[in-house]
Amino acid sequence: MKDMRGRTIDYMRISITDRCNLRCKYCMPDGIQNVSMDEILTYEEIVAVCMEAAALGIRKFKITGGEPLVRKGCSELIRQIKQIPGVEQVTMTTNGILLKKNLESLLASGLDAVNISLDTLDTKRFREITGFDRLDEVLASIDAAAESGLKVKINSVLQSGLNDGEWNQLLKLAKSKNIDVRFIEMMPIGDGKQCRPVSNQEILGKIEQEYPGVEKDESIHGNGPAVYYRIPGFVGSAGFISPIHGVFCDRCNRIRMTATGELKPCLCYQDAFSVREMVRAGRTDEVRNIISKVILMKPERHCFEQKKDVTESRKMVQIGG
Ligand code: SAM
Ligand code: SF4
Repeated sequence: MKDMRGRTIDYMRISITDRCNLRCKYCMPDGIQNVSMDEILTYEEIVAVCMEAAALGIRKFKITGGEPLVRKGCSELIRQIKQIPGVEQVTMTTNGILLKKNLESLLASGLDAVNISLDTLDTKRFREITGFDRLDEVLASIDAAAESGLKVKINSVLQSGLNDGEWNQLLKLAKSKNIDVRFIEMMPIGDGKQCRPVSNQEILGKIEQEYPGVEKDESIHGNGPAVYYRIPGFVGSAGFISPIHGVFCDRCNRIRMTATGELKPCLCYQDAFSVREMVRAGRTDEVRNIISKVILMKPERHCFEQKKDVTESRKMVQIGG
């Protein structure tokens, strides 16, 4: 379905939990008051919403959270979404801690690709950023996922004076394996407001200096707003998601659903419309109407460059990153 500005909206991000096994500095360093399990949509309810979304032209779903793999049965949910007529792709965003353990069942479920968040290759710094000593598990998951043939992308959020010096080491994960390394600019959402962002223009400039011959890569790598570059001698590409220094709203193709069943037209604003009671009562026509309304309500653009205009006050873990 198209929104009011002619953009085709065919992608939906679904948070399946607000729980997580890490405490990233910019996401929820001190934890949150988790919502009770009866407020969270069951898998059956999520599938029912996905069926209505698919009927409106949503073709690709991303499973996220919180940490999606802390919720049991995630592979079964993916298998069921994949079976909905019209669905082309189901992918996942994870911190990677539990990925290796779940890889076999995720592959069997038909998972199409995985994004793994990794901000540092340094053990001490990993603890500083995420609160835990679990870097080895993430690295083992990256290797296992790449070796399995699953398409893997690394998502790195750089912070000035913390891990920005690691851009090249992180990028080198794309050197010999078919892994894309993407730098995501810190957004002023939740605790991200207090962090020191790094501009992707600055990182691209450093990459161009270090690797002469870097070229824009126009091939399609995924469903999102990332812009890709090929680096001579690298198998994978460098990607940039630049909400602050490269506003991509004219290409926006997505809506989101929180774990409690609130649909959001845009990450930046507080507007959200709950479908929980409708899906629980089996009023699927109303669910479809709300999805359609949320698509039509999508704003022309976000305002992450103007912190004061951001009206979303929840943390990323509560919305679904
Ligand atoms: N737990 C999973 C993970 O870490 O990949 C999925 C949820 S997490 C909220 C999704 C992504 O959002 C992660 O890559 C994380 O780095 C990113 N993220 C969280 N807060 C952010 C912020 N304020 N600005 C930019 N990215 C953020
Ligand atoms: Fe958890 Fe992902 Fe948030 Fe880190 S970014 S605290 S891994 S939800």
